Amino acid sequence: MAVIESIHAEALLNGPLLNTIVRVIDADGVEGVGEAWWGITDQSAPERGARPIVSVVNDLLAPRLVGREASAIEKLWFEEWDWGYRYGDQGIFTMGLSGIDLALWDLHGKRHQSPVHELLGGPALDSIPAYASFPPLRSADLLVSETHRAIDYGFTAVKLHELDPELPALLRSEFGHDLKIMVDVNGHFDVAGAIAHGRRLSELGVLWFEEPVRPMRDHRAIAKVGAAVDCDLAGGENEYSLEDFDRLLSMGALSYLQPEITKIGGLTPARRIAALAELHNVALCPHNFRLGPALYASIHWAFTSPASRWIEMPWMQTTFKFPFRAALPPLVDGHVLPPTGPGLGCEPVKS
Ligand SMILES: [Mg+2]
Repeated sequence: MAVIESIHAEALLNGPLLNTIVRVIDADGVEGVGEAWWGITDQSAPERGARPIVSVVNDLLAPRLVGREASAIEKLWFEEWDWGYRYGDQGIFTMGLSGIDLALWDLHGKRHQSPVHELLGGPALDSIPAYASFPPLRSADLLVSETHRAIDYGFTAVKLHELDPELPALLRSEFGHDLKIMVDVNGHFDVAGAIAHGRRLSELGVLWFEEPVRPMRDHRAIAKVGAAVDCDLAGGENEYSLEDFDRLLSMGALSYLQPEITKIGGLTPARRIAALAELHNVALCPHNFRLGPALYASIHWAFTSPASRWIEMPWMQTTFKFPFRAALPPLVDGHVLPPTGPGLGCEPVKS
């Protein structure tokens, strides 16, 4: 038992990439490291997008939490969530809360010298398949070379952020059906366009079609697409509260649910969302595009639920490195194993 001595968030930057890192230190000097969402990237000033989220942590929540018992994670989460409702239960407020919650879980695990998943009851699965998530590459040659590199690392599945259906078609012809392919269009289409695109992706045998329509939270539009295409739909990275997820899942259009742990408020509400995925019998596939505490927290979370199916790991070209230099977890037969280190087990590496 120790009280919180300090909480501090900062945006770490390396070229166009940033991690919004939150550090919580207790009165014994033990440090927990968490991560909040990174914001909408502004190429001319990448750290600008993170500033409002950093401010939620440093200006709103930290002054309220310093001096409180660090291990009272559940209690603190509900108090802060309730206190902050005038800011809304979605968006930058819960993003900031996510960073603190992940840091508190990391701290809790370090104090107990135990991986977080052990404190949550131990893994519900022996291993979980992982996929390499590519940034938009817009180049056939790059896609093929990056896929080779991902396969060499041990991945058996890749996710493309490409709009041209000829690019997944190219990967299918180059690598055959041993390679699983997911396609994410980040809400690019209207309903008619999404249905046409989804039918092409169905012919290619993609594993899922992610966020097919804009607005991404138009649940009725997603359901229309789901009713008209054969391929499975994935989504949920832009939903926030348990109520949001319940409403989304009640439409029955998704096969793969992708909550983003740096947006929803962290690991504490994530466990309730996992129960909802189990109840609705959909696959839980944590969304994540950061190599750092967010990835490791997503893995711990996924291991708490038998509904978990796929772990998303960002796969950047070697010239791009996230500022928080964590190691990409090793794979065994394309699967990730439960992390073994204390806390989240996300140690910075020198590179
Ligand atoms: Mg996505």
